Amino acid sequence: PFRAFVLSKSDGEFAAGVRELTFDDLPAGDVTVRTRYSSINYKDGLAMLPESPVVATYPMIPGIDVCGTVVESNDPRFKVGQEVVAIGRELGTARFGGYAEYTRVPADWLEPLPAGLSPKQAMLLGTAGFTAGLAIQRLEDNGLRPGQGRVLVTGATGGVSSVAVDMLAGLGYEVSASTGKESEHDYLRELGATEILSREEVSATEAPPLEGERWAAAVDPVGGDTLAYLLRNTRYGGSVANCGLTGGPVVNTTVLPFILRGVNLLGIDSVMCPPDVRAAVWKRLGTDLKPRNLTGSIANEVALDDIQGTAGSILAGTVRGRTLVKL
Ligand code: NAP
Repeated sequence: PFRAFVLSKSDGEFAAGVRELTFDDLPAGDVTVRTRYSSINYKDGLAMLPESPVVATYPMIPGIDVCGTVVESNDPRFKVGQEVVAIGRELGTARFGGYAEYTRVPADWLEPLPAGLSPKQAMLLGTAGFTAGLAIQRLEDNGLRPGQGRVLVTGATGGVSSVAVDMLAGLGYEVSASTGKESEHDYLRELGATEILSREEVSATEAPPLEGERWAAAVDPVGGDTLAYLLRNTRYGGSVANCGLTGGPVVNTTVLPFILRGVNLLGIDSVMCPPDVRAAVWKRLGTDLKPRNLTGSIANEVALDDIQGTAGSILAGTVRGRTLVKL
């Protein structure tokens, strides 16, 4: 038997807690992994709600991130003893995810642990770090280079954003950060931000359709009014990479930033990211994008029994940085 954090529903009654399972409880699949670490993302918080907008079937083991060692494999690409990582796809939403000592996944969802990252570092990155890396890759694919001006990271104390601030500063960008947490300005400066804005400033709604060309680019997990702010304040030819909606899904904007300033709005999706892009981003996560503060102030760690409390805090927006789950 092994331990797993299980969400269940019987007769409409929702329950969540640590249970003992056996290999027979795992779904059929190519590769069985002894999970070492998982992590807690915003989406994991959503998964643990009784009326979850992301869980497709019950019972479910949440955890959209998995890192561990292969113990059984029917796929020639993966050998017993090999360290592997998986994020996104249906993990923790339609297929058992990372909050269990063992999990079984389709081989196509797995990546060998990238060079330069320990299993713990890979999960301190997890979906959040991968998404930050993908956003930076896409900004650079669209022409962003250090020296072109300031890059704004919104919702900056969150998981995606903390990592993005660190990565961008490490690459030599001038990083500005916006946050709703006045108490965390020192934390953001420590990660590499050299200018801090309030959440109010970057979510103002009474504004003309175009404002100053202040930002060369932005990484935005907030969406909503903040995405509208970013579009009207990004400079000619600049790009905004949106990956999230903690500030809401509805964006009240005009087409003027697009047709008068050539601003690019880039959509960032980690979940179904194609394998070639996924492999390239993971490679960068272990090399030039590897955050400098990964095991420092960004990192929190919880055990299987403590997951639920953190899931509530992440939805309330009170968690700082990344939370690792040790199995
Ligand atoms: P997180 O750690 O909870 O960070 C979210 C941050 O957003 C918070 O720390 C807070 O930062 C800010 N925030 C919270 N409530 C807000 C509000 N009402 N208005 C404005 N800002 C608010 O979450 P995460 O895991 O980094 O994920 C962030 C977002 O990206 C989520 O929407 C998530 O679903 C999405 N995401 C998408 C992908 C993808 O593939 N597209 C991948 C990963 C994450 P401050 O307190 O510093 O302002």
